[in-house]
Order: sequence, then C-alpha cells, then structure tokens
Amino acid sequence: MISKKVNLEKLEESKKYSVGAYSARYLQKVIEKGIPKYEFPKKGMSPRAAYQLVHDELSLDGNPFLNLASFVNTWMEPEADKLVMENINKNIIDIFEYPQTDKVIHKNIVNMLGRLFNGHSTEFMGTATAGSSEAIMLGLLAHKWSWKNSGRGTGKPNIVFGEDAHVCWDKFAKYFDVNAVKIPIDKETRTITADAVSEHIDENTICVGCVLGTTFTGEIDPIKDINNLLLEYKTEKDWDIPIHIDAASGGFILPFTEPDFEWDFRLDRVRSINVSGHKYGLTYPGLGWLIFRDEKDLPKDLIFTVDYLGEQEETYTLNFSGSSAMVVAQYYNILRFGRAGYTGIMKNILKVSRDLAEELDKLGRFEMLNIGERLPIIAFRQKKETEYSLLQLSHKLREKGWIVPAYSLPKNAENIEIMRIVIRENFTLDMAAIIIDDIEKACQFLENEAKLGAKEYRPPKTGLTKIC
Ligand SMILES: *Cc1c(COP(=O)(O)O)cnc(C)c1O
Repeated sequence: MISKKVNLEKLEESKKYSVGAYSARYLQKVIEKGIPKYEFPKKGMSPRAAYQLVHDELSLDGNPFLNLASFVNTWMEPEADKLVMENINKNIIDIFEYPQTDKVIHKNIVNMLGRLFNGHSTEFMGTATAGSSEAIMLGLLAHKWSWKNSGRGTGKPNIVFGEDAHVCWDKFAKYFDVNAVKIPIDKETRTITADAVSEHIDENTICVGCVLGTTFTGEIDPIKDINNLLLEYKTEKDWDIPIHIDAASGGFILPFTEPDFEWDFRLDRVRSINVSGHKYGLTYPGLGWLIFRDEKDLPKDLIFTVDYLGEQEETYTLNFSGSSAMVVAQYYNILRFGRAGYTGIMKNILKVSRDLAEELDKLGRFEMLNIGERLPIIAFRQKKETEYSLLQLSHKLREKGWIVPAYSLPKNAENIEIMRIVIRENFTLDMAAIIIDDIEKACQFLENEAKLGAKEYRPPKTGLTKIC
C-alpha cells in the first residue's frame, strides 16, 4: 500500500504510460505514447474515456467472490446499494446538517450493539470507525489513559496480547508508545491461556487483549478464565486491568449462534469491544464499531468538542470526515434482518463451513485444525510430509481463481504451515463442491510434478497470501 519511489528517469519509456484496451477507442486520437502513469496529466479526457480507462485497469483485480482469504463482506441487497448511493455524499461528522444520521441512526446502532453484547448502560458510549483497526486503537487508547489517571504504575505502560493477534495490535503499541507484551500461543489450543497472561501482566499493564476468532485459525481465547484471573488481581492487588475484546469477526456471529456463550459485557473485566461492520455485520468495507461497557471507561479528556460545523459536537475518533453510507447500510441490515435474520444467515454460513470442512477431511490429505464449528473459519495442515507445500497448493488454486492463503503459525508453532478458508455468505454448497474438486486435482498435479522430477516449482514470495 505504501508507494515505492519511482525513478522516472530510469524507467523504461514503455512503463511510464498506461492505456487500457477499450479506453483507447474513446480517446479519439491516435495514442502515441499513452497516458502518463506517474505524472499529473496535463489535459483531461472525456468521462467515457476516463471511466473505461479506470475500469480496464481494475479488471486485472481478483474476483471478490472467490477470495476465501478475506473476512470482508462483498455483497449487499439492491435496496442497501440504493441507500449507500443516496448517502455516500453525506459527511458523517456534519451532525448539524445531517442530524438524523448521527443523533438517531448512529446512536441507535451503538446502543443496539451495547445491548447485543449484554451490557447494562442506559446509554452506551461508542462510535463508528473506519474498521476494527481504528476501533481497537481507540479502545486501547482509552485504557492507556485510564491507567495513567489511576496512578497504578509508574513505568512505561504495556499491553498484553497473543502472538496471533491482528497486526493492528502491534500498530497500536508502536504508534501510541506502549510496550507490546506478546504471549506465545499454546500449541494445543492455539490460543493464549490464563496462566500465560498471569505470567506477563504487571502494574503497568493497561489492558489484556482477547480475540473472538483469531485471524490465524479462527480460535477463541479463553476469555472467561482470563476474566476470572483479572478479577483475582483486582481483589488481591487492586490492579484494575481491563480486557478489550477483539470481536472483529465473532461479534456479529456468536451473539446469534451461541447466545448463552459468555464472552462479552456479562464478564466484569470486559470493558470495551470492537466488531467489524464490514465483516459479518454484512456491510461493504469501511465500517467498524467500538463499544464501551460504561461511560467511565472512556476518560472525558479524550473526548473533543468542536463547533466549526454549526453545533457543538463531541467526537472520539482518529478521523474526522467520512461518508455516512456504511453506517446507514448497517442500520438497514439490522432493521432488515433483526436477530432472527442474522441468526439464520450465520447458521447457514456455519453449515456451509462445516460441510466444506467435512469434505476436506474426507480427502484424507489434511489434518483439520479448525472445522468451522463455531466460527466459519477452516484451518488445516498437511497430514504427512509431502513433496509440495501448502503455499504451492495455494498458488496452484489461484489458477482457478480461488484465493486461499497458506502461511506459518506465529511463534512457538512457527513450524506449522497451515491453509485457511474463510466462508462468507455468498459462498454456496455448490461452490464448496467445486473447490473440493479443485483442491484434490491441484494436489494430484503437484504430486505428479514431484514424481516426474519436474523442475522444482517455486512460487513467488510476495503478494498472494496476505491475511486480512
Ligand atoms: C479483520 C480483523 C481485524 C482488523 O479489522 P478491520 O476491520 O479490517 O480493520 C482485527 N482483528 C481481527 C481478529 C480481525 O479478524
């Protein structure tokens, strides 16, 4: 995402320009060189030509429907699409101009989520964010401030979380100058354990992070045990260490599929929760939520009041302007589906993921690590030593359009190479049958290649296996 330096002088002439196959016909004159790639164009072009050019360039992207690497939702109903377009030009921060969006819809959703997560505030503190990453940073920042205000420790603050946490936890530690104390994951459970947390916390710990569906394997941390542990520390040492739950993927699944499972505000130490609207909240990309258990969990001095836009308003976000379209889309989904609708959708997704896991298991090739029982995330490794790696299998599957990442587990389990499939709503049982067939054929192909002593297949190292 970070653009590397382009040395225009050294760049081959042909690489400085771009032009799409179809767009050329709209440009109305013979293109001698093309459209400059790295220089702001001197003149414009017709809307037709510009559209076609951008469209052509994007046609090289993968198909979002076949992207089994990502948790992010790729489809909404036409009525939602309509609302998105009707609201895409509204700036959510302009609450004076668009009071309905902020004061009604945004507030309604924050309160609905607070109650969905079994909190008891009369009015919940929380905010829409660009995604779970921003929500996590804001949640942890609040805990850093509370720790500072409490005077509990005087050293450099630290935050405790598992090696398998999402990269945004490391980002928080670095960007907000907090020591990241990372717990190696347990080989058996592939999560952190309460015992390990106990060994790592001290008076400077601002927060312990627990994940409801880890990015690596979809596992759930033992949140209740960690809650009980921190309760003991609270009584014995008067250490008021909060838990932040990263429910990016699980927060819109488990409240519907396992309402009795206690991971949320029912546990005393859980003081803040984030969830991605654009994952199983079923909106398009650009939406996360941060909900605090109690008003007291968000220190007042972090809330800014601004009045440039016509009315005094309080904000707790890293960004300022942004479209209100996804908040509106979230509201649409909640009204449209209700608890019953979300429950049905999530149960279907889980059924597809369990069936796919079962079929994968039947191939006899893989040891299943996560069979999509509680969250629609399937993780598996090779059963025996094979002549090809899962990374090679991943590249072979890409030929059919499937994007299935393969990677090594984090510290302590780093010699385990796994493959992960994330099932979303648009993935059907038919598609499951096709991918099983494609996986089997790809494995056979790689086995044959190896037998024939064909040149060793070396997939490129970059690009294809990004974890989202
Ligand atoms: C996806 C994910 C994130 C990051 O969420 P964004 O909404 O993409 O910013 C953080 N934690 C977990 C566990 C995730 O699955």
